[in-house]
Amino acid sequence: MNIDKGFCMKKLIVANWKMNGSVQLAKELVRDIINGLSVLPDVLGKCEFIICPANLYMYIVRHSSATTPYITLGAQDCAAEENGAHTGDTSASMLKDSACRYVIVGHSERRIDRGETSAVIKAKAQAAHNSGMKIILCVGETLHDRQSGHAENIVRTQLLESVPETANVKNTVIAYEPVWSIGSGLVPELAEIRGMHAMIAQELEKKGWPAAEIRVLYGGSVKADNAKPILNMHEVHGALIGGASMDAAAFIAIAQTVETV
Ligand code: PEP
Repeated sequence: MNIDKGFCMKKLIVANWKMNGSVQLAKELVRDIINGLSVLPDVLGKCEFIICPANLYMYIVRHSSATTPYITLGAQDCAAEENGAHTGDTSASMLKDSACRYVIVGHSERRIDRGETSAVIKAKAQAAHNSGMKIILCVGETLHDRQSGHAENIVRTQLLESVPETANVKNTVIAYEPVWSIGSGLVPELAEIRGMHAMIAQELEKKGWPAAEIRVLYGGSVKADNAKPILNMHEVHGALIGGASMDAAAFIAIAQTVETV
């Protein structure tokens, strides 16, 4: 607990199911997560959970978690536009209307695979805020950025260019996700994670965000066997989890590594 700062913040454990699953799998997965967590009051005292399924499976998570206050529904993306002729897109207000409270923006799979620039991500973040949702804004360097010694500058630039004027400490969570770590089984040294998180927090403090309330999650190959030292760092306020979030036991085992908040 951040007693020194007079503020207690649970760790935020976010499941990003990506474009995976089926109706049956989504039903079983959310059922198993809820059944597993419901008998772990100690974990529920230290963690809160966001599940971000594919849009088509949101109703399953919404329905299954209707009476579980520790699970919040999230989306993996939203449109920058409010409505109109944008075939195939989903607006932030539609997500909000469907009980989503968070939306991930700027995931590297969208920055890289879908060519989304920081300007686009900023517009999406702003649309989410305007609709009353919170964002999980992802930043992270590629292996090339890292090997050429530019990781910190790249992450800082992504952050400063993607955070909209509508962002504040209450409606915005940052996720530091090194691109080379996502799905690879590789994770940075603890000191590297600590340093990057501290830099991100400092940049947000410069905007006037209260230090004790800033949330910076780590994402990239988090598993039960590497989570403990990462999640228990003072600078790490939770995790964004891809692969391991598709397995209820693995997902819960990660949360069980949290020692204190
Ligand atoms: C992610 O896609 O955000 C992610 C962190 O994936 P994984 O946990 O599989 O590395």
